[in-house]
Amino acid sequence: MIQPDAVYDVMIIGKGPAGISASLYTLRAGLSTIVISKGGESLGMAEKIGNYYGVPGDSTGADLLDAGVAQAKALGAVMVEDEIAGLDAGDVIELTGMKGIYRGRSLILGMGAPKKKFKAVNLDKFEGRGISYCGICDGFFYKGKKIGVVGNKDYMAHEAMDLLNISDNLTILTNGMEIELEETKPGDINGLKIYKDQIKGFFGDEFLQGVEFASGRKEHFDGIFIAYGSASAAELAKKAGIMTENGVVVVDESQRTNIAGIFAAGDCTGGFRQVAVAVGEGAVAAKSVIEHLRSIRTSAGGWT
Ligand SMILES: Cc1cc2nc3c(=O)[nH]c(=O)nc-3n(C[C@H](O)[C@H](O)[C@H](O)COP(=O)(O)OP(=O)(O)OC[C@H]3O[C@@H](n4cnc5c(N)ncnc54)[C@H](O)[C@@H]3O)c2cc1C
Repeated sequence: MIQPDAVYDVMIIGKGPAGISASLYTLRAGLSTIVISKGGESLGMAEKIGNYYGVPGDSTGADLLDAGVAQAKALGAVMVEDEIAGLDAGDVIELTGMKGIYRGRSLILGMGAPKKKFKAVNLDKFEGRGISYCGICDGFFYKGKKIGVVGNKDYMAHEAMDLLNISDNLTILTNGMEIELEETKPGDINGLKIYKDQIKGFFGDEFLQGVEFASGRKEHFDGIFIAYGSASAAELAKKAGIMTENGVVVVDESQRTNIAGIFAAGDCTGGFRQVAVAVGEGAVAAKSVIEHLRSIRTSAGGWT
């Protein structure tokens, strides 16, 4: 059961093999653990898993996934279905979901492989030069300027609402898709300009100057924020100053990120994307979390 004011010892985003494996260790170490996921695990898509230790080959990925989730639940994991769109690092780490806010003393990102679905001419060229993936990090540079937010789902609405604090000259660019909000109230984005035209690409010199649509129409924009689909691990990581490289989260051999108390495991860290690797990295991340929490716990049982 979710306690709205609770500060969990461990928060885990992802209930794939990385996240669930980590939770088995943190739960057995007596740490309160919440596992948040939005569905769509890669493991659930695998028709047959024939190369995982002890599984002879007639198990589906979904069977293996369900078995892991049941094991974590039996140990007392708090399991929540929510899409996380915001991450604030601090002594208490805060996650913003579409359904609520979650707080914890540590965090493991087990968010799976990045699913880069948005392709457009010159997207790479203007990344960091007018195109950003993080409203909260880069919005400040576009104060009062003309901003576009690319996306059509709750994550887009979350980013748009953050950016409205910076500029009300904001246009939603759905790239040919209909708006599909599950948790955001449609009223929250009412009144914003919405273009449903397909995007061909971006134009400019050294910096972005605007968007070119598939129709050939060009329009000036000072800044574009990509919030396509849902937040990937790297997009979320950037919001908290966590190092990323080529779309994956950078970790050391103990699955630590550069931010104390935040760890990552599985496909979101790149490398050999397999169940066995995700399970192993989840275990290592959990061990590091346990050591981290021990190091910040005072002898009186509080936190430093
Ligand atoms: C079709 C297919 C077949 C495969 N076959 C094999 C095989 O035979 N053998 C093998 O070893 N591996 C196989 N793999 C790879 C294997 O499935 C992955 O390596 C493994 O599942 C990675 O685990 P993970 O926990 O890192 O990520 P995932 O299993 O992808 O889980 C990611 C989790 O993060 C959550 N999440 C992501 N973003 C958010 C967000 N913003 N908010 C909340 N939650 C979020 C998701 O909901 C999900 O719970 C296959 C993969 C695919 C796609």
